[in-house]
Amino acid sequence: MIIAGVDIGNSTTEVCIASVDEHGYMHFLSSAEVATTGTKGTLQNIKGIHESLIIAMQKEKLRISDLNLIRLNEAAPVIGGTAMETITETIITDSTMVGHNPDTPAGQGVAVGRTVPIHKLKETYINESIIVIVPKTMDYEVCAKTINASNEKIVGLILQKDEAVLVYNRLDKKIPIVDEVEGIEQLPIGKIAAIEVAGLGMTIKTLSNPYGLAKLFDLSPSETSAVIPISKSLIGKKSAVVVKNTDGGMQETKIKAGKITFKSQKNQSTTVSIDAGAAAIMEVVHSIQDIKDIEGERDSYVGNMLYDMKKELSELSEASEVSVESLESVTSEASMKHLAISDLLAIDTFVPVKVKGALAGDVAMEKAVAIAAMVQADKLPMTRLAKQLEEQLNVPVKVAGVEAVMAAIGAMTTKGTQLPLAILDLGGGSTDAALLDETGEVRSVHLAGAGSFVTMLIDKELRLDSVQMAENIKRYPLAKVNSLYHMTMENGEVIFFHKPLPPKLYARVVVVMDEELIPIITDLTLERIVTTRQEIKRRVFVTNALRALEKVAPDGHMRHIPNVVILGGSALDLEIPELILQELANHKIVAGRGDIRGIMGPRNAVATGLVMSYLSEDIS
Ligand code: ADP
Ligand code: MG
Repeated sequence: MIIAGVDIGNSTTEVCIASVDEHGYMHFLSSAEVATTGTKGTLQNIKGIHESLIIAMQKEKLRISDLNLIRLNEAAPVIGGTAMETITETIITDSTMVGHNPDTPAGQGVAVGRTVPIHKLKETYINESIIVIVPKTMDYEVCAKTINASNEKIVGLILQKDEAVLVYNRLDKKIPIVDEVEGIEQLPIGKIAAIEVAGLGMTIKTLSNPYGLAKLFDLSPSETSAVIPISKSLIGKKSAVVVKNTDGGMQETKIKAGKITFKSQKNQSTTVSIDAGAAAIMEVVHSIQDIKDIEGERDSYVGNMLYDMKKELSELSEASEVSVESLESVTSEASMKHLAISDLLAIDTFVPVKVKGALAGDVAMEKAVAIAAMVQADKLPMTRLAKQLEEQLNVPVKVAGVEAVMAAIGAMTTKGTQLPLAILDLGGGSTDAALLDETGEVRSVHLAGAGSFVTMLIDKELRLDSVQMAENIKRYPLAKVNSLYHMTMENGEVIFFHKPLPPKLYARVVVVMDEELIPIITDLTLERIVTTRQEIKRRVFVTNALRALEKVAPDGHMRHIPNVVILGGSALDLEIPELILQELANHKIVAGRGDIRGIMGPRNAVATGLVMSYLSEDIS
């Protein structure tokens, strides 16, 4: 007979096909995977299941009608969600700062002087250093001539147009020039300003340093602490302008962020505010061993996220109790009571946010807390799904086995493993762990935060505004295109091309996908993107691997875990398994990436386990 194991995950639906011969021996035939259609546990999953079965059967030149049995996993009734709450906000209360990265500023160094518009140069004689402001209506030839002809002590220029180099080349006396300052009209006139242009390949050093600003503007210690947000937001820029404005300034204020309340099984509750930061939040999560539920303050980002997640899952589990037709039924508050948020992972991050009131689209890195959470229901409506699938495909369908158990059984097909065995399943929505001992006993947990959380953080921290791009940056190596004929990979390898690359890739950081180079539109360096990417992966998956193993470990001691097999889509990542292995090595735990049936790598464990468990079930 021919049987199929089907694992419906949050992200991926995986199948494994095997035949059982007349002597009761099992032969694995093929496997397939497709993206899960719809939310796990809904009837929409059928489309994906059908598709993946067709693919797997076709590989063996078989048809769906050749199947004798389909075994579905009792999918863990958890759904993961993510949210981000910014907790600081930078506001410029007056036009005091321009810090940006025009491609081509000119000259280099720091200059301090009083701001004078170029058309006022002739009318006034100011016996001190001046910085000339040039609006876009002025041509670069005229500008250079005017400056050359002036008897004033001109120390720097601020241009609205992108013409710094053109002007610079025509100047008799070379001075630093900052260009592309779009909001130039808003710069205060007659005030003391400082400009800085960094040397080739460097970033500014004086205006991005509070003491540097203090020296230039002769600031008192309290004034110096007031300019910290200004200097902070200028770090990493190639050029900048700061105008000293007696009454203006910049403020970093705390935004009112939501609170989270944790309830334990004994109904004790602990409340922590998001702006206390991730460490404080995780300390609470850690201290409550038996979380019953987590609630967020209404109308805060976290509050809304936790509420929405519960609502989504309650619509599902409610549907399982009623008939298929009333699937659209309205969710009652009562049914949401069956649901609980069982885990939460908080991470401190910085997100670039446009500074309010800035002149050149300046961006400040604001503090934020990112949250992944996990809602848990009693059960997912798997029987309903099984019934519908059976009718549609005309093949018997059985809901067989708990996901974690099946994953552990499948994981045992990795060479070199033995019981007791722990698995770490790194998925899209959750990080799961299970421990299977010699007696067949299994302990498992589902923790919030996994692959999609990493993708969201990459998207936000690098300000990509594209989840697809973030996913690519997560998965594939980067390179810097040095010329139209060669690029340097992030590991230093140099690749040459026979045909010229498209000009739009020139000097860009690119994602190296199998067939394609995709440019990343950013002013961040390759090194910076790589460190951000690795740091995010470490903070999500290393943290979660330790949390998860601690929870399933015998007596809560990780050192009692003999070996760990790493599974799931995120185990295909180029860095994540290594980061975890390194950390586990510190705890003297033998761990490795799974290789299901010696051919599947870390994929297909649950589907394989579902097929294998048929034999033991059949005998007993
Ligand atoms: P689930 O069991 O919840 O359906 P999967 O085990 O399919 O989840 O894992 C999905 C996650 O794996 C997604 O976050 C996806 O980005 C990630 N993923 C899939 N392939 C790769 C890869 N080649 N490199 C890195 N991450 C990957
Ligand atoms: Mg899975």
